[in-house]
Amino acid sequence: MELKNLYARLPSVDRLLNHRLLEKVVDRHGSAALAEAVRQTLDEARQHIRATNSLPGWAADEQQLAQAASQRVASRQQMQMRPVFNLSGTVLHTNLGRAPMAEAAVEAVSHAMRESVTLEYDLDGAGRGHRDHAISALLQELTGAEAACVVNNNAAAVLILLSTVAAGREVVVSRGELVEIGGAFRMPDVMRQAGCRLVEVGATNRTHLRDYQQAIHADTGLLMKVHTSNYHIEGFTHSVSEAELVELAHQHGLPVATDLGSGALIDLAAHGLPAEPMPQQMIAQGVDLVSFSGDKLLGGPQAGLIIGKKSWIDKIQQHPLKRALRCDKMTLAALEATLRLYLQPDKLTQQLPTLRRLTRPQAEMQEQAARLLDCLGSFAGAEFDTATAACLSQIGSGSLPVDRLPSWAITFSARDGRGSTLEALAQRLRSLPTPVIGRLNDGKLWLDLRCLEDEAAFLANLQPPDSAG
Ligand SMILES: *Cc1c(COP(=O)(O)O)cnc(C)c1O
Repeated sequence: MELKNLYARLPSVDRLLNHRLLEKVVDRHGSAALAEAVRQTLDEARQHIRATNSLPGWAADEQQLAQAASQRVASRQQMQMRPVFNLSGTVLHTNLGRAPMAEAAVEAVSHAMRESVTLEYDLDGAGRGHRDHAISALLQELTGAEAACVVNNNAAAVLILLSTVAAGREVVVSRGELVEIGGAFRMPDVMRQAGCRLVEVGATNRTHLRDYQQAIHADTGLLMKVHTSNYHIEGFTHSVSEAELVELAHQHGLPVATDLGSGALIDLAAHGLPAEPMPQQMIAQGVDLVSFSGDKLLGGPQAGLIIGKKSWIDKIQQHPLKRALRCDKMTLAALEATLRLYLQPDKLTQQLPTLRRLTRPQAEMQEQAARLLDCLGSFAGAEFDTATAACLSQIGSGSLPVDRLPSWAITFSARDGRGSTLEALAQRLRSLPTPVIGRLNDGKLWLDLRCLEDEAAFLANLQPPDSAG
């Protein structure tokens, strides 16, 4: 057919806009968005004609064009950041937003979003006035620290801590603790950014108290410890504890700071999990400033918490960077609600999703795997062997890197043994209305069930929408 005739078979923008299929679309998305989608749909059809000298299949008649336009409007409204089922086996997955929030935090955030809140307003007129007040009071109670400060994340916490305490001076750190957290966060770079001069002491595997001692002189501003959260050195090793460092530093009138990375406000070992240093232990040992993340093991929103001596915290609160790094009302609401859960420690395993998932008994996941096997087997189809298998979950976010938690998974292997067949299944799972994120390992696709809490929603999500009713 001649090109001209093909173009002529496409309706005008106005005509397509008035298609009865699109009446509801106007109600839902407005006429401007629909007009744009109709124009783009017709443009795309014309481009197809130009390129292939044929009408695209989806533009065969006006009904189909209207449908295509309607889909285009809807997909423009589809959020790019979407909920997923995290069956990757990593509980605190940084790329998946780390800690899921407790219900109490979700409620507190939605109130803070909808209404005016007492962010920096004292109802009793006491004039405390700063936005970290509520969090600081909670952290004092939970950790025994004199005061606390909240910024956007732990990287920001380390930056403002160093800038306040030791700008223009030397900061002594063990060579074994010059951590790279990922991205551009490397301890030596952060030091430079904060205007501090890094003084490395000891060796990668062994650092002694005398190494710190020999590095102290008139220009020293701080002795610093960094928790090596994302790697582990084994063998012939020695490091100096915070308690020893505090004694040495305070003899010289110097402060000690420690970046715990994750930090855990409860004793994880009591829950059968690998032990992680606790901020309150550091405070008890006399450390002047302790920093840790809000969205790692604490199970709250992205935030960086600094606790410690009031005189230092007051200086940090007054540093110009604080204004640049301060948290908004939503973060503070989520954090306050999360920390309040810690006031009822015996309920924490139920109420805090991170802890609930980390402590799920393996038998529970094993039973769940047995329940889900048939459904997932038929979802995958005859090209795959579907099975249940024991596996090991990771905590994630650089927390406790070498420790794994016994879990249970559904596994798929491709009968044709091809990686591309397996990848296609992984893609099908990611294309579900709520994408399902698994992990390819050992020639299999693994769905680690540790983080699968809403089983009914998961099963409904596997059904194609038109078979639902
Ligand atoms: C994770 C981590 C950080 C960075 O914390 P964010 O909250 O991700 O900014 C800094 N230091 C250590 C030791 C960490 O483990």
